[in-house]
Amino acid sequence: MIKQFIVIFCLCVCSFLSVHCIASEPDEKEYTLLRQVMVEYQIRKRGVTHQRVLEALEKVHRHLFVPEKYRSQAYNDYPLPIGEDQTISQPYIVALMTEILNPNPKKTVLEIGTGSGYQAAVLAELYKEVYTVEIIDILGKRSKKLLSELGYQNIHVKIGDGYQGWKEHSPFDAIIVTCAPSHIPEPLKEQLAEGGKMIIPVGEAHNQKLVLLVKENGIIREKEVIPVLFVPMIRENGKIH
Ligand code: SAH
Repeated sequence: MIKQFIVIFCLCVCSFLSVHCIASEPDEKEYTLLRQVMVEYQIRKRGVTHQRVLEALEKVHRHLFVPEKYRSQAYNDYPLPIGEDQTISQPYIVALMTEILNPNPKKTVLEIGTGSGYQAAVLAELYKEVYTVEIIDILGKRSKKLLSELGYQNIHVKIGDGYQGWKEHSPFDAIIVTCAPSHIPEPLKEQLAEGGKMIIPVGEAHNQKLVLLVKENGIIREKEVIPVLFVPMIRENGKIH
């Protein structure tokens, strides 16, 4: 009975906010409520329970990472366009991939595919240092500016082909890839620290799987997690890796 009441209450809040948000942009209080509802119903209820991950998702202002016209949809249960034919991932996927890595505030993480900078901001709440590589110049520059305006000092953005990783700062305790290559890049395997974890979507569109790699005693074990749909990992000439 109480459960039913809570569900009905939340549905009412969501529909009120969606209707209200179409009419005018939500204010900060409404965005805070939208974030709380997102974390509870899209993320925690689907099985992501890592407390610090949930707190990071509740803290980072996702609406600041999407183009103005999509702001009121920023906390909805789907990816959104960020320009240059790229997308910001669905909140649940961001949470799931982050939780799988078991983030540690003493460790470093490498992200491939900075995009909007949102995933990097979430990681910055959970890791000591975040290194992130973006191949599209305009996206890399925009995220770098936004992340520095938001005061993140532990995020380092590089423009280049993430297939090659970021050797100077390796090895990384964790690697998260948010674009899909056809195979797991060898340089990323090499740049993974002993005991480290990598989460990466692999395969062509409509046949992609999220794969978890763990390096133990120099040996890498792979495990498929779930089917996913990410934009492809591209080369500097635009062709798919
Ligand atoms: N993590 C992002 C989601 C980005 S979508 C976010 O939170 O918004 C995937 C991104 O990967 C796109 O911005 C795309 O330009 C980038 N990408 C594709 N191929 C790449 C490559 N070889 N190296 C680095 N980034 C790449």
